Amino acid sequence: MLSPAFLSQLRRLLPPHSVLHEREDLMPFESDGLSAYRNIPDVVVLPENEAQVAAILQLCHAEKIAVVARGAGTGLAAGALPIDGAVLLVLAKLNQIKAIDPLARTATVQPGVRNLAISEAAAAHGLYYAPDPSSQIACSIGGNVAENSGGVHCLKYGLTVHNILKLRAWTIAGELLEIGSDTLDSAGYDLLALMTGSEGMLAVITEVTVKLLPRPQRAQVVLAAFDDVAKAGAAVGNIIAAGVIPAGLEMMDRLAIQAAEAFVHAGYPLDCEALLLCEVDGVNEEVSDDIFTVREVLTASGATEIRTAESEEQRLKFWAGRKAAFPAVGRLAPDYYCMDGTIPRAQLPHVLRRISEMSAEYGLAVANVFHAGDGNLHPLILFDANTPGELHKAETFGGKILELCVEVGGTITGEHGVGLEKINQMCAQFSTPELVRFHAVKAAFDPDTLLNPGKAVPELHRCAEWGAMHISGGQLPHPELPRF
Ligand SMILES: Cc1cc2nc3c(=O)[nH]c(=O)nc-3n(C[C@H](O)[C@H](O)[C@H](O)COP(=O)(O)OP(=O)(O)OC[C@H]3O[C@@H](n4cnc5c(N)ncnc54)[C@H](O)[C@@H]3O)c2cc1C
Repeated sequence: MLSPAFLSQLRRLLPPHSVLHEREDLMPFESDGLSAYRNIPDVVVLPENEAQVAAILQLCHAEKIAVVARGAGTGLAAGALPIDGAVLLVLAKLNQIKAIDPLARTATVQPGVRNLAISEAAAAHGLYYAPDPSSQIACSIGGNVAENSGGVHCLKYGLTVHNILKLRAWTIAGELLEIGSDTLDSAGYDLLALMTGSEGMLAVITEVTVKLLPRPQRAQVVLAAFDDVAKAGAAVGNIIAAGVIPAGLEMMDRLAIQAAEAFVHAGYPLDCEALLLCEVDGVNEEVSDDIFTVREVLTASGATEIRTAESEEQRLKFWAGRKAAFPAVGRLAPDYYCMDGTIPRAQLPHVLRRISEMSAEYGLAVANVFHAGDGNLHPLILFDANTPGELHKAETFGGKILELCVEVGGTITGEHGVGLEKINQMCAQFSTPELVRFHAVKAAFDPDTLLNPGKAVPELHRCAEWGAMHISGGQLPHPELPRF
């Protein structure tokens, strides 16, 4: 619990409407997009400018009070989950687009600006911001940087880290860091990359300069159906091996196709096990060449049906099913649990087969809808939280999928971050010396561990306890650590 004296100090820094303390005002902030994890915050502050952000951080630093930053709260790993005795610092009111420079092809924006709002503002100049999380209508650019978010277009255009140039960020001590530059390289350690994906644990971001791209002359999408998920998985690698880098290469399995079709009537074939959507973009001639190659590769990979969108309307219809797939799957069961792991593309057939076997072992259905080109899986595990034990079963199953990703040379997060959700799997992904270096980096920015404590990077004793329970392939993780 925060003391009344501390709350009074907060109120002196901010206008009355920027400090929320009543239970009914705090309830909307109890979780992010992963609503299985909830905790009502002690206090929520909504600063309206950078000076207020700095003042809040300085006060919390002086009083040794923890701070959890929050953007739009769409995160799926409980990264912005409130912590007892901490301040929840919501950046949503810092929502100004400060400048668009069409010559430099950049936009400078405050952290609360929505991802899609950047492209909407840049459209007047024929430009757009490429990383496009499916949540782009709501998620904030500050959250995107903190999670290193991705989306359909990241296969060709890169993740957030590849599409930003500069940040303004504040340490917990209230010091300003100006990171990156207007040029492609800057001197010294690459703090821009370090800050990207740091999940609110190193500093609070108050301004982002993003790169903008010219809108492509033409975009065209091919839809391909397969009678076998493994064949569709292999086709993904074959397309890229043929020299085409699609603007998007997405896959859906039978359950996801049927759910999406019932929901939005995209016209998908229903008598197949997997669908691939492959979009190419660029200048006219390049798109025509790539479409030809993609169709040839899909035929050679065993596609049972191939359709090319011949109009913009048809292209959007093909995508409508994919874009609505998450809410569509949400209609199949009372709850679903969305995992996010990444694997080398070549492992897609093996991993999809193992997920299907595990689905039978756990007795929980799984729909797969994912960024296949990036090897970024999103298995949606269906369950009913009202059935005792099912949430736990879904979480255990999800954890096993992530461990499988690590086993085949992949990673436990593709774009959603670690947060609290995947903190145990960090013990499977990293060795003790690596985790020690992570803690050293954290200490360089935040020696008192006040920014988003307990998230993303596990304490070594947590790994020791987790390792004692998770012997995998005869190997005890972190054997060098004492067991408790
Ligand atoms: C339906 C749906 C679809 C999604 N699809 C995708 C997808 O395709 N790709 C993808 O990558 N993600 C996706 N997400 C996840 C989520 O939208 C992203 O992680 C997004 O970047 C989170 O942004 P946010 O503003 O909501 O951040 P929040 O959830 O508020 O916070 C996320 C993390 O960032 C930190 N943070 C937020 N703002 C700041 C700041 N200004 N300074 C420092 N730290 C900060 C928080 O502490 C927390 O750790 C999806 C989510 C939903 C609900």
